[in-house]
Amino acid sequence: MNDCIFCKIVSGKIKTEIVYSDDRVVAFEDSNPQAPVHTLIIPKKHVPTMNDLEETDGDLLGHLMLIGKQIAKEKKIEDKGYRLVLNTNREAGQSVFHIHLHLLGGRPMGWPPG
Ligand code: 5GP
Ligand code: ZN
Repeated sequence: MNDCIFCKIVSGKIKTEIVYSDDRVVAFEDSNPQAPVHTLIIPKKHVPTMNDLEETDGDLLGHLMLIGKQIAKEKKIEDKGYRLVLNTNREAGQSVFHIHLHLLGGRPMGWPPG
C-alpha cells in the first residue's frame, strides 16, 4: 500500500535497522520503545488489522509468533519473560494499520495492561 509506513520499511524506502527478515516477515526495533526490548515483527504483505486476516493466514500468524519467540531468545529475555502483543483497532491502541506483533521485555510488566 502506497502510504503505509510499514510497507515503506518492507520495501526499503524508509531505512530502519532490520533485526530479522525472510520471505514472509520483517522485524525491526520500535522507534518509540516502551521497554528495554521493543521489537516489531510484521508480515511483508499489507494486512491492515487482525480482522482482515483469513483462515489461510494461520501459518503467517504462527510464523510471526515463532519469530517473536526466536528474537526473545536472541535478546536473552526468554527465561525472565516477555510479551507478544497485537493491538487491533482504536480502543486497543492500534496506530499503524499494517499488522505488527510487538515483542516487549526487559522489565517487569503490570497486568491488566492499561
Ligand atoms: P500500535 O500502536 O499500532 O500497536 O504500534 C505501532 C508502533 O509502531 C508504535 O509502537 C510506534 O512507536 C511504532 N512506529 C510508528 N512509526 C514507526 C516508524 O516509522 N519506525 C519504527 N521503527 N517504528 C514505528
Ligand atoms: Zn502496509
